Amino acid sequence: MAEEKALFGGGRRRLNLKDSRADAVDPNPWLVLVVDDDPQVHGMTQVLLRDFRFQGRGFYPVSAYSAAEARAVLESRDDIPVMLLDVVMETDHAGLSLARFIRQELANHRLRIILRTGQPGEAPEREVMLEYDINDYRSKTELTAQKLFTALVGALRSWIDITTIEKLNATLEARVVERTRELAEAQAFSARLVELLPNPVWVKDLAGHYRLYNKSFREFFGIDETTWLGHSAEEVLGPHLPPEELDSDCRVLDGSSRREEFETQIPDCHGQSRTLLVTKAALPADGVVPNGIIGLAVDISDRKGLERELRRLATTDPLTGAPNRRHFSTLAHQEMERSLRYDLPLAAIMLDVDHFKTVNDTWGHSIGDEVLRAVTESMAAQLREVDVLGRMGGEEFAVLLPQTGLDGARQLAERLRQAVASIRLPLVDGVLKTSISLGVACRAPGDTHFDHVLGRADRAMYRAKEGGRDRIELDGD
Ligand code: GH3
Ligand code: MG
Ligand code: MG
Repeated sequence: MAEEKALFGGGRRRLNLKDSRADAVDPNPWLVLVVDDDPQVHGMTQVLLRDFRFQGRGFYPVSAYSAAEARAVLESRDDIPVMLLDVVMETDHAGLSLARFIRQELANHRLRIILRTGQPGEAPEREVMLEYDINDYRSKTELTAQKLFTALVGALRSWIDITTIEKLNATLEARVVERTRELAEAQAFSARLVELLPNPVWVKDLAGHYRLYNKSFREFFGIDETTWLGHSAEEVLGPHLPPEELDSDCRVLDGSSRREEFETQIPDCHGQSRTLLVTKAALPADGVVPNGIIGLAVDISDRKGLERELRRLATTDPLTGAPNRRHFSTLAHQEMERSLRYDLPLAAIMLDVDHFKTVNDTWGHSIGDEVLRAVTESMAAQLREVDVLGRMGGEEFAVLLPQTGLDGARQLAERLRQAVASIRLPLVDGVLKTSISLGVACRAPGDTHFDHVLGRADRAMYRAKEGGRDRIELDGD
């Protein structure tokens, strides 16, 4: 009892729940701030509260004997859920001023304020009750245990509700702040990523106007951040607009294509034509009504050049530049297929440089090489666009003559023979002449493979060799 007295009597200014007996009984009681200048009211309230329990917790009074004292308490702590407040204390309106201070200055809207007045005439106006958010009003004569309990429990229930809502709000607000921050971070990350990508990237809106493009895009076209913004590709590219550009945009936007990919030629800022592999997709993503298009280009000019070079190396003979045996066979196979399907004539010439070993032996291998180049060049000059001259190996060549009969092939063979025979290769100590022997054959009934034709041409060529060289033999003669 002595300890309790300390709380409500002399020791009230040094409220210390830990030292109290009630604390020993209930470590977490509902605190009720009792503000009244009448010590009797404090004593009575204390007695009544002792028996109250709500949600497994007891009640504990925190006493203030004036509005000023109550202010000090409320300024230092905000865990008090309910206050029993006298109206008239140090001044007539001390209670109401305190209520205003709590709501306006402290912005404490959680604390439930129950006004208790000694006189019915002291009851505040309704407007005042509303203005200061006074939650209940009781006359002191109503201070029976039951009525006080009911008033306190009602107040606590709303305090719990308000506190719960406030906590939820705070959590929600914290989450919104966190999500907003994450979103901003993600946006900054994507923007940074797009900007740093080594490939041109751009975004167009539904009207086809550029909304964004990255550094690589700007560098490719030699523009700055805003030059093309709000403009369409037709406007800015004019005659250089890739033919697939608009159609591919339409297909992406009308949903008929999830992803567009095409190769196109476009001049860069130096006017140099580049080959770009363009990929496009709808924004924001699949399954949502699109609001734009994102495009990405990969400059494959170097790769294309390399591919062309590799193809050339794989298909041509490095010494003469003529198609090599494998490539010649591929082309011959295709022509044979066509010839068979449409029943078109097809001829082949096999030819071999005469006494070439002697050339090498007499003049050296490099002069031999020059002869091979000169022979190739002079023969190539006689051929039509569709004819194919291939180096089959050593000083042996073959000619594929599409849509050509035996007579036409013989005439061409003769032109080739004469062309080679007229070669004059100047040497330090004279002029080198050379000749070829040729065998001519045509596709015959029963031939299913070009090798059949070539085989007969080869046999004819050997007859030409046997017949004295620098001459032509026809298959079947
Ligand atoms: P024939 O009139 O009967 O055809 O006699 P030939 O001497 O031309 O024929 P042979 O097959 O005996 O000799 C061909 C020579 O061609 C042998 C080979 O070393 C040479 N040769 C093959 N490829 C090349 C080449 O790329 N460059 C040079 N310089 N010589 C080559
Ligand atoms: Mg030879
Ligand atoms: Mg030979």
